[in-house]
Amino acid sequence: MTFRVAVGGIEHETNTYRMKDADLSDFCIVRGDELLSEHAGVRTYLGGMLDAAATHKATVIPTLHAKAEPAGVISAAAYDEIVVELLDRLKMALPVDAVGLSLHGAGIARGRENIEVDICRRIRELVGPNVRIVITLDLHGNLSPELFDLVDVAFGTQNAPHTDMFERGRDAVALVPQLIDGSVVPKLHLERLPLLLPPVTTMNGMTAEINRICRSMEEDSDIIACTFFHGFPYADTPFGGASVLGIANGSAAKAREAAQTVTRAIWDARMDIPAKAFTPQEAVERALQETVKPVAVLDGADNTGGGCPGDGTYVLRAILQAKPVDSCFGVICDPEVVEQAHRAGPGSEIEILLGGKSDDLHGDPVSADAYVKLLTDGQFVRRSPAGEGTVENVGRTARLQIDGVDVIVVSKRYQPFDPEIFVLHGIDVRRLSILGLKSTNHWRAGFQGVLKSDFLADSPGLMTQDLSRFAHERVPRPIWPLDKETTY
Ligand SMILES: [Zn+2]
Repeated sequence: MTFRVAVGGIEHETNTYRMKDADLSDFCIVRGDELLSEHAGVRTYLGGMLDAAATHKATVIPTLHAKAEPAGVISAAAYDEIVVELLDRLKMALPVDAVGLSLHGAGIARGRENIEVDICRRIRELVGPNVRIVITLDLHGNLSPELFDLVDVAFGTQNAPHTDMFERGRDAVALVPQLIDGSVVPKLHLERLPLLLPPVTTMNGMTAEINRICRSMEEDSDIIACTFFHGFPYADTPFGGASVLGIANGSAAKAREAAQTVTRAIWDARMDIPAKAFTPQEAVERALQETVKPVAVLDGADNTGGGCPGDGTYVLRAILQAKPVDSCFGVICDPEVVEQAHRAGPGSEIEILLGGKSDDLHGDPVSADAYVKLLTDGQFVRRSPAGEGTVENVGRTARLQIDGVDVIVVSKRYQPFDPEIFVLHGIDVRRLSILGLKSTNHWRAGFQGVLKSDFLADSPGLMTQDLSRFAHERVPRPIWPLDKETTY
């Protein structure tokens, strides 16, 4: 069966504790054919949707896709402009049989507490009840049950790092023919947990075990998907918390049963899920004691992938104090210092005040003399299985050397997914002893086999492991681990 599908979406993970609103200039927006060239053959959700559409010889109408590095609440003006253009382009695409949307699940705009619900409600009003709406969601979505009354089916990433975005996009569009002919009638049940989870990988530990339970649920031919959403805890929202989405063919009871089997397992394992964290100094000391190198020291509390400014200095300072040989810190965002380095040119010495300029949560600027080793345009292609093929642009960059430590400075906020940004700067990660990395978990797929061990450094940043540092006034209380009396 052939069909017409419009594709597009808006993806944003909102850290409500960040003071600065996300503006239009923070979004990378692709429209029409540009969406096709950006995502065809790329391991993104839209890449997967396009792949499934091609398999089914469907007609694809690309609308608009907007995505930003996770940041603060989206300004009302930016959100309105993007969503109105998405709706306008969708209107022009009509009639369609289906709409495929790449969404996140943790997006908040000023005046819109849950942008995914808002987007899907407006699209449902536009296309009516007979057009199939299929969506993809990020594992870090803070989900509202209302969303699942508006869409036909939803597939969330199962993995952190999100190595399966392409597959989930493909799942969504591949189901369209059966949705149209009625052979599959998805019943969706969202089971929410009173549980805030700090960022954690699914590559090992309890979360890997929970994923195995999800996959065993899916062995039942009536279960279309059973997905563990970790939620995004750095947002004060009524939708905060982990959840499980069960989807069963024809049976709401089966969907609920599958979801609740998994939520019970998560609840029982909740103590064992969070990762162990150290102070930046402890993390560097432990890394130095490891005999098998290179070792990662993770600057998880200033991860731009969760909305942090990316110019935090706690971990950088700890590495500079220890001065380990063959070490590198990547990356820190400081357009002023990049500009200074580009003015001075390679081979020069500059006096810098690096990082710590965005707010008072991520440490003071590092005052240092730096040698300008290399300057680049900051453009390269992602090789991590999570989003492989994505064109990265971190703005102009500088590789500086401070007391023998290489430091990669970028102009735009960026979380390294793989060694490519280091390759760009002439650094072979395999030869390093210590790599300071502004990432919590998303590096794990792209650096697999390269980095031999890792230590998570925690500090008071916008993604600290200590969730009690932030006000949680809108999150439903009681909630674990903030309220020890929480029951489920
Ligand atoms: Zn995520």
